[in-house]
Amino acid sequence: MKLLEDALKIVLDSAYEVDNEKVELNDSMNRVLAEDVFSDMDMPPFDKSAMDGYACRMEDLRNELEIIETIPAGKVPVKEVLKNQCSKIMTGSMVPKGADCVIMVEHTKETAENKIIFTEEKTNQNIAFKAEDIKTGDVVLKKGTLIKAQHIAVLASVGCAKPNVYRKIKVGVISTGSELVEPDQKPGLSQIRNSNAYQLLAQIEKIGCIPNYVGIAIDTHEASHKAITTALNTNDVILLSGGVSMGEFDFIPQILKDLNVEIFFQTLAVQPGKPTVFGRIGKKFVFGLPGNPVSSFNIFELLTKPLIYKMMGYNYKPLAIKLPLAKTYERKKARRQSFIPVKITDDGKALPLEYHGSAHIRAMVYADGLISVPIGVTKINEGELIDVRQI
Ligand code: AMP
Ligand code: MG
Repeated sequence: MKLLEDALKIVLDSAYEVDNEKVELNDSMNRVLAEDVFSDMDMPPFDKSAMDGYACRMEDLRNELEIIETIPAGKVPVKEVLKNQCSKIMTGSMVPKGADCVIMVEHTKETAENKIIFTEEKTNQNIAFKAEDIKTGDVVLKKGTLIKAQHIAVLASVGCAKPNVYRKIKVGVISTGSELVEPDQKPGLSQIRNSNAYQLLAQIEKIGCIPNYVGIAIDTHEASHKAITTALNTNDVILLSGGVSMGEFDFIPQILKDLNVEIFFQTLAVQPGKPTVFGRIGKKFVFGLPGNPVSSFNIFELLTKPLIYKMMGYNYKPLAIKLPLAKTYERKKARRQSFIPVKITDDGKALPLEYHGSAHIRAMVYADGLISVPIGVTKINEGELIDVRQI
């Protein structure tokens, strides 16, 4: 049995980065930048008003001011503000020459036509100065950034309309098991619906990859062999679910060996998720995941996702937050590192979910995260601070 940390190291050490391509900004969400992005301009590009109000000189604040111009956003002011003058200005407009502050419209009173006075004691400058956020040539986003909505705003603002990103990873999914029927079928006696493949396809989609569903392979050597060969032809990574434990019909590892897949490990000291196969053939990777949906969910999170992210050029570190445990957790055996689904309660505690083994998909429905129970640990007390890994 491989320890999780050793397995993760093997997986990450075997990963390589894929090629890159330019994509439209709209298609860049969940992709990873393949180069640094520089700003082609200062930001703000000019001294910009942060308020709706009047641009004037700080030293004239005690005096009646004459309005000489109105400056809407997008217009270049034509008049310089001189002594006891002001220009009416909108948020985002260019501050006119001569002015060194903007007084808020709420802090003024009209005294005559085109005349105002400032009604407060003092004011902030209320100006966002040219280049105060970003200077021309600054790196605004680094190579390796996983692009989220907020990054797209930055890309747009520096004119990076076609970011250079790593290409999408193609991931094939095969479900093995003669007991499986697809979700639109009513299972007969001794059959169950294939939930695992669809969960995996969703997990793949969530991290910005291209999922390719190959289908169900019944438990014959021939069917599995055919499905694996098909999947290997067109994908970078293939995920098999089921057929990797010790049963009479669990012959996936043997088929992989017959196909010259180099197997790096076959069992993990992880619960759930012990029967997990990882191998490589050329530049393609194969995971044989446990058939049980909770186990397969876990192993995807723990090993598949880090591999794929690394191939996408992203140095993935799972986000974990420390929270107090809402209820004491106990287990009898402690030979494997265990992952328990937890719900984050309204008062900010981690509540371990009732969990009856690796087929218990309903426990996962309420899960906000996973906690890890190390090998050798049988009890974690209520109130103890524990890392909750976001899923
Ligand atoms: P296996 O690893 O093939 O022995 O499967 C372990 C358990 O997971 C068995 O109870 C299977 O019926 C179940 N299982 C296997 N594949 C799937 C699947 N695609 N969806 C839901 N359950 C599955
Ligand atoms: Mg099976």
